[in-house]
Amino acid sequence: MIELRNVTKTHHRGETEVHAVRGVTCSIEPSSFNFIVGPSGSGKSSLLYLLGALDNPSSGEILVNGRSLTKFTEPERDAFRRSDVGFIFQNFNLLANLDAVENVLVPFLPQGVSSQLRDEAVELLKQVGLGHRLHHRPAHLSGGEQQRISIARALLKKPQLVLADEPTGELDSKTGAEVFQLLRELSSRNNATVVVVTHDQTYFRPSDRIIRMRDGQLAPTE
Ligand code: ADP
Ligand code: MG
Repeated sequence: MIELRNVTKTHHRGETEVHAVRGVTCSIEPSSFNFIVGPSGSGKSSLLYLLGALDNPSSGEILVNGRSLTKFTEPERDAFRRSDVGFIFQNFNLLANLDAVENVLVPFLPQGVSSQLRDEAVELLKQVGLGHRLHHRPAHLSGGEQQRISIARALLKKPQLVLADEPTGELDSKTGAEVFQLLRELSSRNNATVVVVTHDQTYFRPSDRIIRMRDGQLAPTE
């Protein structure tokens, strides 16, 4: 369970202040599938980064299972980002000189990778349909294949929270639908809570929660 209480985020660009998030209060249920939608510049990415503790709110509070993210110590924040949150980016964020398996294991390379974890990475790549691409580098893979690697990377640690920022923005609609299907399957297997920023309403299902943003605030759902 995630609770946002009057959360704001002000970015500073030179002398200018940009009020990207302007007082958002809402809660996100455990194991739910949520979309954040809204016009470009409405604060969707800023809100997603706050949820993943990739950024700090300027004011307000974010509670994860009753604990305030803003009161975490720096090592606690690192541990939260590393073990509890899986992040999927629009541009995949894969490393060009690593193959598919190594890219899935990237978050774990600093601590060293056990052979069991490597086996799990291979298994996940098989589950996303890339069993025949294990040792390919990103440049030799399609956009859809690259995004499936980044889904495997985000889900390897079985995070309680999966955050995705326009994950299908670079993909055609058929590939996008496949990516969403995988994201739903793998996340529900782990009982993960998923929050996805998207422009494309074709991926919505009736049971999904839609969070609409406008000018940094929640827009009323019609
Ligand atoms: P969205 O994802 O809905 O397009 P963003 O959260 O990326 O919106 O941006 C909201 C506003 O904050 C925009 O005006 C954007 O230019 C600004 N902004 C976002 N990130 C930064 C940053 N790191 N520094 C300065 N301004 C930013
Ligand atoms: Mg954005």
